[in-house]
Amino acid sequence: MTENLSPLYSQLLDVIASVEPRVAQATAQELADQRASLKLIASENYASLPVLLTMGTWLSDKYAEGTVGHRFYAGCRNIDTVESVAAEHARALFGADHAYVQPHSGIDANLVAYWAILNHRVESPTLSRLSAATVNDLGEADWEALRTEFNRQRVMGMALDAGGHLTHGFRHNISGKMFQQRSYGTDPTTGLVDYDALRATALQFRPLIIVAGYSAYPRRLDFARLREIADEVDATLFVDMAHFAGLVAGKVMTGNEDPVPHAHIVASTTHKSLRGPRGGFVLSTKEYADAVDKGCPMVLGGPLGQVMAAKAVALAEARSAAFQTYAAAVAANAQTLADGLLRRGVRLVTGGTDNHLLLIDLTSFGLTGRQGESALLESGIVTNRNSIPHDPNGAWYTSGIRLGSPALTSRGFGAAEFDRVADLIAQVLSQTSPATTRDGGPSQAKAVLPDGLAARVKAQAAELLEAHPLYPGLELSLPVA
Ligand SMILES: *Cc1c(COP(=O)(O)O)cnc(C)c1O
Repeated sequence: MTENLSPLYSQLLDVIASVEPRVAQATAQELADQRASLKLIASENYASLPVLLTMGTWLSDKYAEGTVGHRFYAGCRNIDTVESVAAEHARALFGADHAYVQPHSGIDANLVAYWAILNHRVESPTLSRLSAATVNDLGEADWEALRTEFNRQRVMGMALDAGGHLTHGFRHNISGKMFQQRSYGTDPTTGLVDYDALRATALQFRPLIIVAGYSAYPRRLDFARLREIADEVDATLFVDMAHFAGLVAGKVMTGNEDPVPHAHIVASTTHKSLRGPRGGFVLSTKEYADAVDKGCPMVLGGPLGQVMAAKAVALAEARSAAFQTYAAAVAANAQTLADGLLRRGVRLVTGGTDNHLLLIDLTSFGLTGRQGESALLESGIVTNRNSIPHDPNGAWYTSGIRLGSPALTSRGFGAAEFDRVADLIAQVLSQTSPATTRDGGPSQAKAVLPDGLAARVKAQAAELLEAHPLYPGLELSLPVA
């Protein structure tokens, strides 16, 4: 069905070019660039053409603030359909009581979740003092008291350098300004989450919310254990599955590793391992459903109709047997990549992976993350630098490289290809050295590769990529570099 989309896409680019040729050119070039690089960024993927096409329609032109059947604008019946279908697929796919598919991104989904929890859980002396009759005559002092009551709450999330996310209470994110935060880390010897230490912190700190989820932790979590701890301190368990939603959808993470049966609230992106459009959603138990549905007007304005439509298409795809095969391959490929790197002397945080991502510890090569990242990029391998626990090089240069298997698995890479990728990465990292600064010391930023290495690796990467084309058969009329 998608084989013959070349004329359609070429026409589309012509239409765009008739208004702004530079945008048409950049769009065509982006496809060429993505086709020509080994994409190992753990948070990225390739959505299907049906998902991408669904985003380019007039559903974008409609305002639909509110919820299905309860909108603040007239004429929303088609947006109602699209939103209901997306929510129906989300509920069925994840076995959730409730799904809210309006958030525009993962961060938006997290803000919706946080405010749903605050609105549902915070007992506000100021609010309970007010009757329906007096609620409209709040004085300045009442407003100040309300802000304090909602903003002095406590949240516990995974430390950023252990793999947590900015939105889990980091001080430069709004979550760190909304909440008092205490983080939990990983065991210094194993690199794994230490549930006993986490429980001890929870008992002492008494958080309203425990957030579980990560962007750079290469292991699965035990959500049953986390719920037990949350119950013990009367906290709400909020799971941010932005990164690993695809593995939950594809039934790779089941039982204690499936957050949905254990958490009160789950938030996610749709564009990472789930392979949908850029966006977010929130799942919840029945008790939190009404509070979640107040995402608009609490945090969000009008939903993106065209993106909710694309979420519906992506979630429908994720309910297929083919998606389960994909998710299993994502996990198996990450394992192959990890084994291949370990065998070639590359150190990994926690010694491996059991999800879709892994974290290289570059300290044994004497390189910073910044140097590793740029040496790999020069060789046609796209990754991102990342802190490792207790990083000696800080959050800017870092000492780690994060790798993920979702995107190349979407291109059809299997075990043989991922082992070749491990070989290419190990070749680059083991032969790269820090540049020398003007005063003779090692640079933290610049790296030096031996002559010809980047070109050789690029050529080998190109062979792998040509054997597994991205969007096979799609040819564009615009010339690219
Ligand atoms: C990516 C990510 C987000 C944010 O998603 P955006 O769509 O970029 O806003 C939130 N939480 C976690 C754990 C993530 O990995």
